[in-house]
Amino acid sequence: MSRLRAERLQKSKNTPRGRKRANGAPQSAANGHDGAAALALARRETRTAIANADAAHARLRDALDILPQGIVFLDAEGRYILWNQQYADIYKRSADLFHPGAKLADTLRIGVARGDYPEAIGREEEWLEQRLSLLANPRGRHEQRLSDGRWIMIEERRTSDGGVIGLRVDISEMKQREASFRLLFDGNPVPMFVCALDDRRILAVNDAAIGHYGYDRPKLLTMRLHDIQEGDDQPEFHDPDSEGAKQDAGKTWRHRKADGSTIDVAIFSRRLAHNDIPAVLIAAMDITERKRAEARVAFMAHHDALTALPNRVLLRLRMEEMLARVQRNGGGVAALCIDLDGFKSVNDALGHSFGDLLLQTVSKRLQSVAREQDCVARLGGDEFAMLQSDVTAPEQVSAFAQRLLAVISEPYDLNGHQISIAGSVGIALAPGDANDADRLLKSADMALYRAKADGRGTFRFFEPDMDARVQARHRLEVDLRAALQSGGLELHYQPLVDLRSGEVTAFEALIRWPHPERGMIPPIEFIPVAEETGLIAPLGAFVLRQACADAARWPRNVKVAINLSPLQFRHGNLLVQVMDALKVSGLSAQRLELEITETLLLEKSEHILATLHALRALGVRISMDDFGTGYSSLSYLRSFPFDKIKIDRSFVHDLEANADSQAIVRAIVSLGASLGITITAEGVETESDLAQLRAEGCNEGQGYLFSKARPAKDIFQFLTTKRTKVA
Ligand code: C2E
Ligand code: MG
Ligand code: MG
Repeated sequence: MSRLRAERLQKSKNTPRGRKRANGAPQSAANGHDGAAALALARRETRTAIANADAAHARLRDALDILPQGIVFLDAEGRYILWNQQYADIYKRSADLFHPGAKLADTLRIGVARGDYPEAIGREEEWLEQRLSLLANPRGRHEQRLSDGRWIMIEERRTSDGGVIGLRVDISEMKQREASFRLLFDGNPVPMFVCALDDRRILAVNDAAIGHYGYDRPKLLTMRLHDIQEGDDQPEFHDPDSEGAKQDAGKTWRHRKADGSTIDVAIFSRRLAHNDIPAVLIAAMDITERKRAEARVAFMAHHDALTALPNRVLLRLRMEEMLARVQRNGGGVAALCIDLDGFKSVNDALGHSFGDLLLQTVSKRLQSVAREQDCVARLGGDEFAMLQSDVTAPEQVSAFAQRLLAVISEPYDLNGHQISIAGSVGIALAPGDANDADRLLKSADMALYRAKADGRGTFRFFEPDMDARVQARHRLEVDLRAALQSGGLELHYQPLVDLRSGEVTAFEALIRWPHPERGMIPPIEFIPVAEETGLIAPLGAFVLRQACADAARWPRNVKVAINLSPLQFRHGNLLVQVMDALKVSGLSAQRLELEITETLLLEKSEHILATLHALRALGVRISMDDFGTGYSSLSYLRSFPFDKIKIDRSFVHDLEANADSQAIVRAIVSLGASLGITITAEGVETESDLAQLRAEGCNEGQGYLFSKARPAKDIFQFLTTKRTKVA
């Protein structure tokens, strides 16, 4: 209250009105009575004026007290004139020093002495000097820390009478926010920049940015964001508060590090003010590794891992591009399907890692033949494909195919192994054979199938009837699967006859397929299909079971012969299957003969030989079927102790007229005699054949002369009626 009174006094002395009245009073007094009246009037007026001034002053005070900031008025000598409640609250430690007429400089000096201003501690005089010089020459704002930790923002201006009006704002909260931001910024592991909004010059960087980019801080603070971007094709970077900023999400920028390397970054930005400059806070996430991983995944999706060649997916895309170009501009495209002949045996013999090396080498050779605009792909296993673009004539493609075959069949020297393989190539042309990618590849594949069937190291162009044949084959496969499931296959039996006694020694089980629409389908037509599709496994198992079961009902001296496919040795456990069939049927092992062909021994596999020996150890007899048609190497006869050799019917047919066949039959018979192997002649059709074979000393015969293969139900009758006739 004393403060208010003091101000009032001070104030009334200084008002122009107060001065005027003081000067006018002696004049009035000279007029005596009038003078007394005038004086009374003047007094009243003065009182009224004072009352008015007090009211105005109170209103001003009220107004000043409402303001959120602290306000202080000083006169030209730096003395307090007026201050509001907020001012007193801010400097509550010094409030007792505020008196009208007291000097702010003194208040400051006392405050410094008792440690009210932490920044002054230890440099009291210097601090005071600085502060007073700011007061004497007020310019803009400055900040002041108080001993209780608060921050005050001071703004001082000159007033028209040479005094000072000072504003005080408690900015402690803002300072705290700023400090947390600093902490977040400086300690953040993500590289961060503060850039000016207008020209993107870098105003601040955190330690992570220094560490990650490798520039030193002073250098970075002279650069613009633009300077660390690599190349001119960078996406535009928008003001985060602008509409365009939405487009920045998901974009990748490329930045250059101090060492010259580049990184991919995703940017997150916020608008802020940095020392009053409109600025952008940028967090730069290094996504180089992620980008690389994404690129790897994308590459893997379109390329073969072993050879890095395009895979089927990418080949198809390329093919579609080429076909679209052909449609637009004319010209032609050739699709070539390539298969390696003999790859499987190399892989089996020398191991998979060697096989992989071979495939990599082949892929390089294929690439060496291809031109830039062609495409070489690996479809899987030992299957490759090529696309030849700009084809104008089939001759161009056949020349290309020939070159391919030539490079494939050049000898390979891999890890000290000298090996040679060959290739087969199937070709389809667009337009002509097909207009879409799937058909084109399928047609080339059909042509490849034909090339392989026609022998190694050749190429074949697609022909329309291949399609029909493939369709037919496919139907056959579907029907065979169904027949196997529904019991649509049956076994017929053809007798093997002892040529001396005329007795039936055995029956060979021959599979029959009475097709509901196509009639009887011969085994040479469907056995290869079964072998290619894997159906040979259930088929072989059926034959084993059924033949053993049928034979178990025959007289004990009659054996049963069963044909085995080489594939039955490769997959599944043949030994177990045979033992099961014998056990279930009750047939003794001695009454079972298994017929194999030379192709089985071609592989020289330990596993196959072991299986054969194990079967033989059971008591099962092993026959060499169709002898003379395969490689007929005598070494096969040495590699396994066969019980029987069946001379192929091509040597038996018309034996009487054919001296060469006679010589061969004679040689085999004498071989058998010396090795203790039974010799059976297949395809005995005439009495003359029979006589010749008997003359040569052949042990057994099989053929239409004795009987064709007949259904199981006819065997008993056959045995009772035919025996005498044959003899
Ligand atoms: P293969 O094992 O050499 O069977 C003998 C084939 O010669 C049979 O043909 C038989 O009917 C035929 N044949 C017998 N005597 C004569 C004759 O005097 N003249 C003529 N021209 N042919 C005669 P099929 O039944 O058509 O069987 C053909 C081939 O199919 C068999 O040759 C065998 O390799 C295979 N096969 C038959 N059944 C099976 C089976 O169950 N499993 C397996 N894996 N292959 C079988
Ligand atoms: Mg046979
Ligand atoms: Mg045969």
